[in-house]
Amino acid sequence: MDDTGCRILLAQKCFSCYGLYPLISKYLAGTAASGLYEARLGHEEMPGKENHIFSPAFREDDMAEICSICDHIVFNSPQQLERFGRKVRESGLQTGLRINPECSTQHGHPIYDPCAPGSRLGVRLSVLEECVSRNPSLLSLVDGLHFHTLCEQNSDDLETTLEAVINRFGKYLGQMKWINFGGGHHITRDDYDIDLLERCIVRMRNEFSLQVYIEPGEAVALNAGELHSIILEIQPADEQGVRNVIIDTSAACHMPDVIEMPYTPPLQHARALSSDGWKNSANGKNVYRIGGPTCLSGDVIGLYQFDHELEENEELVFEDMAIYSMVKTNTFNGMPLPDIYIRRTPDICTLWKHFGYGDFKCRV
Ligand SMILES: *Cc1c(COP(=O)(O)O)cnc(C)c1O
Repeated sequence: MDDTGCRILLAQKCFSCYGLYPLISKYLAGTAASGLYEARLGHEEMPGKENHIFSPAFREDDMAEICSICDHIVFNSPQQLERFGRKVRESGLQTGLRINPECSTQHGHPIYDPCAPGSRLGVRLSVLEECVSRNPSLLSLVDGLHFHTLCEQNSDDLETTLEAVINRFGKYLGQMKWINFGGGHHITRDDYDIDLLERCIVRMRNEFSLQVYIEPGEAVALNAGELHSIILEIQPADEQGVRNVIIDTSAACHMPDVIEMPYTPPLQHARALSSDGWKNSANGKNVYRIGGPTCLSGDVIGLYQFDHELEENEELVFEDMAIYSMVKTNTFNGMPLPDIYIRRTPDICTLWKHFGYGDFKCRV
């Protein structure tokens, strides 16, 4: 932000731990919300900062409140813009339109690719052109364009995407005040190329006089947060020589991305093994399959080789648990939710949230 004048927002859907918003707001320009409730949270817990909202489709009855707390609203389609744009602008908000640059740069996780065929996210150029020819004043309702197509990616993929954005939508950029590059920029990862990100930002600033926004979620709390769990039982070795371990933490309830994405989270004193071919890499010693206490057969966190033999009641510590975990927990099977502590210095942790039976009961 200091080098380029860009503004960085926290995407709250990834990390809504508002106990840390005072710290985050010292560095970032504000928040990005996926709907009314996140927008309220940003408004209440990061007061005085920018409050942006995007939704694939807004509810009519949310609009009055959104207009009273947000300063930027991004619509997903020309129809949404035609429906809400004028009124929203009269309330003093800046409006944006999400575009689909039709440029896939990630191939591992199709459910995280808004440029995949059939995507409902963002307007494609051909559709926008048709709408503009029908309603030539449509774009006078728009202050900025927004794209979000990256997921855990480096700035080379941003550069590729930006090229596609300029090629397709360049003719409209001159009429805009800002452009939002969305999230998925892994800017805090060691190998992230910040210089190239800065060149991308400066290019849009200089060529099109645009204010640039980015709204990363993951990168704001990457590799932060531990989830502490206890081993409840260790089963005898199966025919593969693997012992199942039941812990008091569930993939399905406490870290659903482990199943959805899927991925195997880092675990202290252990290395993750892939479920096929692991026998070649591990010498078979201290190999455990860690699973949760729910009814779901697939409630498995992963296969790991440990540097020691595990014991019942031992604590296991999962790492990189701050992002996309607290915001996605559920109480399926009546599972308790773990308390949340904030560690402000290396050895002082303070209890921030305690959960109990009432949190399960009130949600069913
Ligand atoms: C998910 C999302 C983000 C944040 O993405 P990260 O991968 O967590 O950086 C930002 N903007 C929009 C519109 C999103 O959907």
